[in-house]
Amino acid sequence: MKLPIPYGHQHIDDDDIQAVVETLRSDFLTQGPKVREFEKAFAEYCGARYAVAVANGTAALHLSTLAMEAGPGQKVITTPITFAASANCVRYCGGEVLFADIDPATYLIDLNQVESILQKEKNVTGVIPVDFAGYPVNLEDLKALAQKFNLWIIEDACHSPGAYFIDSKGEKIFCGAGKYADISVFSFHPVKHIATGEGGMAVTNSEKLYNAISLLRTHGITKDPNQITENHGGWSNEMIRLGFNYRLSDIQAALGISQLKKLEDNINRRQKLAQRYIDAFKTLPIKTPAAASTVRHAYHLFVIETDRRKELYEYLKARQIMTQVHYGPVHLHPYYRNLGWKEGDFPAAENYYKRCLSLPLYHSLTDEQQEYVIESVTEFFKKG
Ligand SMILES: *Cc1c(COP(=O)(O)O)cnc(C)c1O
Repeated sequence: MKLPIPYGHQHIDDDDIQAVVETLRSDFLTQGPKVREFEKAFAEYCGARYAVAVANGTAALHLSTLAMEAGPGQKVITTPITFAASANCVRYCGGEVLFADIDPATYLIDLNQVESILQKEKNVTGVIPVDFAGYPVNLEDLKALAQKFNLWIIEDACHSPGAYFIDSKGEKIFCGAGKYADISVFSFHPVKHIATGEGGMAVTNSEKLYNAISLLRTHGITKDPNQITENHGGWSNEMIRLGFNYRLSDIQAALGISQLKKLEDNINRRQKLAQRYIDAFKTLPIKTPAAASTVRHAYHLFVIETDRRKELYEYLKARQIMTQVHYGPVHLHPYYRNLGWKEGDFPAAENYYKRCLSLPLYHSLTDEQQEYVIESVTEFFKKG
């Protein structure tokens, strides 16, 4: 059995390696046919019209908030239980971040909290919900609220490709489907479901937003004859907006295409492993993740709650089982404390943080490895 066991790990097979090798021998290393092909396949998988591949998930968030025209004087709401990038993207644009506390049952942003903020605050223009751990936010309910208060929605779906909730019409709404959110954002960091080393995707049904994000990805430079002011010849291009170099390479896109083919297997494997943990821990003093029958959970993470989190972390580490904590509440990072946030602002998030621990969960975690994790956790609690 392979030790140590990390909390998350990529799963790269011979087909993935072959795909990368073929691209290395091709004419394009960056922004070539593989990027387009990956975008098309990914949009199709989500059930959306457009996708733009970018350098990483954070870049996708940055360009999405820019595409929504977020800027100084505007406020955007997100959850404190997420990776810092979900909030940082608003700061990149000069906007102000507001946090809404989590629902302790699902760990997702609490829509009642969002509503009470909207009743108090002025100039809130958008909301960034996060499908935390792979549990999809009910975007239909959020959209109703967003419409009432005239907000855009950027879904941070970095944890949840392939997850869905069932809306009031009985329709499966896949993360990134674009029915309720303006844009959905994904990451292809190695611990996520699809690994391209670094990589990200912004998915939308809006042609306008698609064009805006595409332009911003490549320096804000266009060759579109309808958009440039002076056409001097076939070479003419103009920079019409302050953009970035946030391209994904063709090498990475080739890997992404190959990885996407295995996403369903990956999610199914994670669900099986998650169910095995849930069954094994039934009699232990542990809270295991909620999963409503109306959602498909993508299980990016398997988070448990225990009063003895630190002890358990150390105990497992000594046995070469590397658990992790997701996440320290974003509002308590020194950067956000300096903006005025403090302990006590979001009690549900802070209480969750004191108790949470992510156990190993990934496609290539073997039954034997998981058995060892289960035995170790069980022994820890049996010893008292
Ligand atoms: C991973 C992650 C990101 C950032 O993605 P990168 O590809 O690492 O930049 C953003 N939000 C969430 C919730 C994430 O888990």
